[in-house]
Amino acid sequence: MKNLQHLLCLLLAALLLTGCSAGAAEPDPEAEESSTQYLDAMDTYMTLTAYGSSRDEALDAAVEEIRRLEALWSVGSEDSEVSQLNREGSAALSEDTAALVERALEICDSTGGAFDITVFPLMDLWGFTTQDYQVPDPADIQSALTLVGADRVSYDAATSTVTLGEGQSIDLGGIAKGYTSQRLMELFEEMGVTSAMVSLGGNIQCLGTKPDGSLWRVGIQDPVGSEGSIVAVIEVEDQAVITSGSYERYFTDEATGKTYHHIIDPATGYPADSGLVSVTIVTADGTLGDALSTALFIMGLEEGTAYWQTHSDEFQAVFIDTEGTLYVTEGLTDAVTADAGYTLLEG
Ligand code: ADP
Ligand code: MG
Repeated sequence: MKNLQHLLCLLLAALLLTGCSAGAAEPDPEAEESSTQYLDAMDTYMTLTAYGSSRDEALDAAVEEIRRLEALWSVGSEDSEVSQLNREGSAALSEDTAALVERALEICDSTGGAFDITVFPLMDLWGFTTQDYQVPDPADIQSALTLVGADRVSYDAATSTVTLGEGQSIDLGGIAKGYTSQRLMELFEEMGVTSAMVSLGGNIQCLGTKPDGSLWRVGIQDPVGSEGSIVAVIEVEDQAVITSGSYERYFTDEATGKTYHHIIDPATGYPADSGLVSVTIVTADGTLGDALSTALFIMGLEEGTAYWQTHSDEFQAVFIDTEGTLYVTEGLTDAVTADAGYTLLEG
């Protein structure tokens, strides 16, 4: 009986509290006002837009957060935590780096090694880390391949310590921007922003809806068309829309005229040649979306679809193959419009 009274009191208190706070929340007179910041960071061009009266403070904090995370993870800077780990083979990591590496290792595992942060020696060999591009000697690829395998990386949660296998080094470039956009959504929420959209290179993530309640419209770039031309539009609320494409970063070998892009198949050591030109992941989890856009690009349409079928509660996807055909997973039926139509992938 006493317990029941106690419970009723708590319930009443809860009702009063929510009632009060709802009454006190004035509508934001600047709800429709927006600010945008542009910056170069993490090797890409970023655009951050936020709405409402706390938008400017929130955007300043977001830029600071991006710079902080970039300093932790840049392989171009000797002082970064990742460079230190790569040099020393083992390091106790700060909270964000540890969380990111732990997540990355889970996804390496769940994608059967298609996503693998230990590809760094291969990225380096192809010149993607220095922009001093070259088509490597096949023997050098074979020897770099012996260093690839995230199953040799261990993570001790109790001490946040990551230990690499002998000679290994890691590259978080396939997942870092997704973690960052996810982090920005949390930061915006903490600072009272309810409507925002960020674009970190090909990584888009949106908070809430637009201030008028309508959905965000995110374009999927035409992989073969001129820059800025779009083959489909996805309408979303509170989602990340993250694309990996072979047209994003590549070089042309002058001797042969052949192009080589930056998504490396850890099974072969060569740029993935799976028959796809782009993969877009739509998910509430930006970190997952970034890693999976890379992983499913490597897997190709068939294996990628099978992966989606067993994880369809976590994400949806749009694939574009070398013929220019679009494939859209079932969960996006209402969200996607494509002028040329698409093939539906069923669960
Ligand atoms: P972008 O960096 O253009 O957004 P992605 O998200 O697809 O594109 O990531 C590509 C980056 O991921 C590469 O530049 C490299 O740093 C890293 N990477 C390349 N291949 C792999 C792979 N198989 N697994 C994990 N990371 C990879
Ligand atoms: Mg990615």
